[in-house]
Amino acid sequence: MNIDTLVRKNVKKMSSYFSARDDFSEENVKKLIYLDANESPFDNRINRYPDNKHTELKKVVSDIKNVNVNEVIFGNGTDEILDLIVRVFCDPYRDKIITLPPTYGMYDVIAKTNGVENIEIPLKSDFSINKNEILKLSSTSNKILFLCSPNNPTGNSFDLNDLIDIIKCFKGVVVVDEAYIDFSSKQSLISLIEHNNNLIITQTLSKAYGMAGIRLGMGFSSKKIIDYLNKIKPPYNINVLTERKALKELNKIYEIEKNISIVLEQRKLLVSCLEKLVFVEKIYKSDANFLLVKVDNADLRYNQLLDKGIVVRNRSNQPLCQNCLRITIGTKNENTSLIKTLNEL
Ligand SMILES: *Cc1c(COP(=O)(O)O)cnc(C)c1O
Repeated sequence: MNIDTLVRKNVKKMSSYFSARDDFSEENVKKLIYLDANESPFDNRINRYPDNKHTELKKVVSDIKNVNVNEVIFGNGTDEILDLIVRVFCDPYRDKIITLPPTYGMYDVIAKTNGVENIEIPLKSDFSINKNEILKLSSTSNKILFLCSPNNPTGNSFDLNDLIDIIKCFKGVVVVDEAYIDFSSKQSLISLIEHNNNLIITQTLSKAYGMAGIRLGMGFSSKKIIDYLNKIKPPYNINVLTERKALKELNKIYEIEKNISIVLEQRKLLVSCLEKLVFVEKIYKSDANFLLVKVDNADLRYNQLLDKGIVVRNRSNQPLCQNCLRITIGTKNENTSLIKTLNEL
């Protein structure tokens, strides 16, 4: 696909911010006297601006994810990357995006913030993708299709063949948000970026990696798209503390993997306990670290839990989610409290 023709004209024409440090390569970092960026000279480990190219972190992440370093972008959370994507491709009041509700609320917020219309094509009643409807709307002005797999709040992954067909046939950019991929039995689509230059995969350190507080989102795509995103990226969007902490924690992948397996075990246990409750009508199959649960009366159950000090998410107002609660898998103790409380209702 010719990506250049999808990019906004102003973005194509502009050049990115040229930071004081852009001229100097890393190997010189230690030897030089930096009097170029109006920083404080007094060393407290945070007095210098962060590396605007995130070189070290990119090396580590691209190794873990098995992609090239120039196929990676970082954002202040995934949310920043999603916003960059909309701003690279969508001309306000002209171009549109497509989303598949019920899904993550930020796609719509970001589109509307940028004056971009969001065309909604609801999932089918079994939460699968309406492939024909999507492809019917495929046009060069419907610039971006946002897919979330495993999907939030429904918890399911989409069918691999549906996803591949859509990536191949859609005339714009396809974003697959894989925030929950580490909890899934299905494989990431990240390897498909090599042969599909219109595909962007987003992942995050906020969920399975246990670092929602440091705000680090990751985008993976063809070098072409990454270059465009970099062009408009605020240069210092990843702060020094975030980069340092991420590098430290990513060194301990085994701990992250252990925690994922605990969550998966707890998810299974929670399903078996929830199944026994008379007011639980359906527990949807989950590939994520939460369960979507249909109950007799979601408002009532939500408030009863809140009274006992347990906060879940009431998703009743979402399409196809009437009387549904979204329950995050907690620690063993937290889940035991949840089950005990539910049993007492
Ligand atoms: C939690 C979540 C994210 C993560 O966003 P961050 O900004 O990286 O914290 C992204 N997409 C979906 C669908 C999510 O549920």
